[in-house]
Amino acid sequence: MNSVIKKNLLIEGKTKKIYCTNNPFEIIIHYKDNLTSLNGKKNEIYQDKGILNNEINTHIFQFLNSCGINTHFIKRINNREQLCMKLKMIPLEFVLRNIVSGSMAQRLGIEEGIKINKNGIIEIFYKNDQLQDPLINDHHAIFLDIISYEELNYIYSIMKKINNILKQYFLSKNIILVDFKLEFGKNTNNEISLADEISPETCRFWDKITMKKLDKDPFRKNLTTKHIDIIDVYMEILKRLHHNSSYQ
Ligand code: 5GP
Repeated sequence: MNSVIKKNLLIEGKTKKIYCTNNPFEIIIHYKDNLTSLNGKKNEIYQDKGILNNEINTHIFQFLNSCGINTHFIKRINNREQLCMKLKMIPLEFVLRNIVSGSMAQRLGIEEGIKINKNGIIEIFYKNDQLQDPLINDHHAIFLDIISYEELNYIYSIMKKINNILKQYFLSKNIILVDFKLEFGKNTNNEISLADEISPETCRFWDKITMKKLDKDPFRKNLTTKHIDIIDVYMEILKRLHHNSSYQ
């Protein structure tokens, strides 16, 4: 069996580091303890958050792989790191909303909590720190030469599939999947795979019974009083994912 050798740092982001490996088609993703919001203006360290996030992501990506979704995830290699396929990332964030919340509620002046139809609403944000990731539509994305119509339609269909899988899966854990953000990349054959992460940092999770927020929103809104709050949320999500589950 070929062993993975970690090589030079490729990119360091706000919450992750990406390393090259001895295989040019594979990378190592290292989860840091930083938690950020407001495009990095708020940035705090929560000890061991990266370990929990690596476990949560491993669980969800293994589950999606087992459901036939093409993802970048290959395997977890230690408590903070996972081996993934190297992809050319598409500089777009795709948000799917099942329930009105966050920026959609603010932008449209509507109440949080309104249910959207079963397909949800998909929004596209242009990943550009200087412009603060503006909301764009599909015509803009094509005009900017980021993506083709065919690729967009493919991503929309994959997102609907992922939404149906995850909505049901989280509901079986008494969690409502309010909304989530996905990112995609292409391999050297131009095939599109799901990349980045799926976690309390990129999704809104509400407890089905109490409606308590089990995600990063209290941090975004400065509602966490002590560091332990965020860690408790991650541990609660992990506990529920592992409960009655064959995906370890
Ligand atoms: P909103 O647009 O309401 O702020 O976010 C919608 C969903 O996408 C939420 O689940 C949120 O966690 C996720 N999301 C949107 N933009 C980002 C981003 O730049 N970083 C992260 N981590 N999540 C995002």
